[in-house]
Amino acid sequence: METSRDDYLESTRDLFLERRFFLIRASWCFLLHQPARDCILCTQSRGFLSLMNLSLIPEELRPSAEKVRAAERITEADALQLYRCKDLNALGILATAVRERKNGNYATYILNRYINYSNVCILSCQFCAFAARKRDAHAFELAIDEITAAVQDALVLGITEVHMVGGLHPTLKKDWYLKLLQSVRALDPDLIIKAFTAIEIRHLAHRILKTSIADTLATLRDAGLGALTGGGAEIFDAEVRDELCRGKESAEEWLEVHRIWHGMGGRSTATMLYGHVETLAHRVDHLRQLRDLQDETGGFTGFVPFAFEPQTEILAHVKRASAVEQLRNLAVSRIYLDNFDHLTAYWVSMSLPLAQIALSYGVDDLHGTIMEEKIFHMAGAKTPQEQTVTTLEHVIIEAGRVPVQRDSFYRHLGFREPCRSLPRATPQAELACV
Ligand code: SF4
Repeated sequence: METSRDDYLESTRDLFLERRFFLIRASWCFLLHQPARDCILCTQSRGFLSLMNLSLIPEELRPSAEKVRAAERITEADALQLYRCKDLNALGILATAVRERKNGNYATYILNRYINYSNVCILSCQFCAFAARKRDAHAFELAIDEITAAVQDALVLGITEVHMVGGLHPTLKKDWYLKLLQSVRALDPDLIIKAFTAIEIRHLAHRILKTSIADTLATLRDAGLGALTGGGAEIFDAEVRDELCRGKESAEEWLEVHRIWHGMGGRSTATMLYGHVETLAHRVDHLRQLRDLQDETGGFTGFVPFAFEPQTEILAHVKRASAVEQLRNLAVSRIYLDNFDHLTAYWVSMSLPLAQIALSYGVDDLHGTIMEEKIFHMAGAKTPQEQTVTTLEHVIIEAGRVPVQRDSFYRHLGFREPCRSLPRATPQAELACV
């Protein structure tokens, strides 16, 4: 059922007033130095207080809990022990303490538009249900005009980021990629173009631009590239990669692209595709390599893990990660990655209801409106294609957090004025709480 423009404006105004009320309450609590029990902005203090009660933490996790309380780094052995822990609530307490220390009670989201410009790819990663050969029936390739038209429509809705990735296309030329970036940037110079995975950058450098990674990144940046995506990391271990995505770049090559980009002042996100053939030790090793690079460059803005969708024929026997496993993975990531400021729950993969629960397991960001996603949906994801701002804010408030719109670098953008054009609540938006 379509929501009328007036309904939309009214619900947006309600949220706006609701948030004003939170701020007034917070000021009141602050002046009285007395956190109110029902004030969601005061849950930060409650989180730390509950952490003080170590009786809620199982004996074997106490050493890690002490480190979390002292804001000390946990080791890989600690992380492995956390992964093996069956007490999900204890992990939630520890992850929440880290999350609230870094981000208070805020939970962010971004207004963004995904564009998958083509799924034609020269590789055939075993886990990938997205890629196609040029002659395959499901192959697609968007024209630059189609892409700019889609971005233009989304700009009217207030997006601050366009997120573009695709396959390793065999025939698109350098000029096409540059024109793509330049055309999108020409629509709005303030729009952040977050594009390309590390493997796409290597493909462009070695096969298309035929120059170094650094020169390729500089050329793309001059044309409009604003941030690099975190895709393609999968699991770093070489043997797992061989089973999952033979022929794709190695861990060292993925990390090198991000290291060079960070060295140029660029920012990117990091990802992990888990829940397939890897072990818990492989996950810890993956997190270790990310934490090491972040120590070196400080260039990662956030971490976005997602569970494998077991839909490809080759890996059809793999059982999808359960809800508990997904929450555990987020919580351990939050506790271990002490030098990452933000942890995102990718609702496209995990569903919005579970992403909402993840706000109590270390997550401080619900990603974005997305609008159209192909990679997970071609692999069988049953989640919607998009979320409205109203829905994202609603689930955040219901979870007891304070919603804030962010930009591509997780910077808060302040209060959003109600959008006056195309106010459309998508019929398939997932509402976790109605
Ligand atoms: S995962 Fe990326 S590189 Fe691998 S086949 Fe799919 S589109 Fe190509």
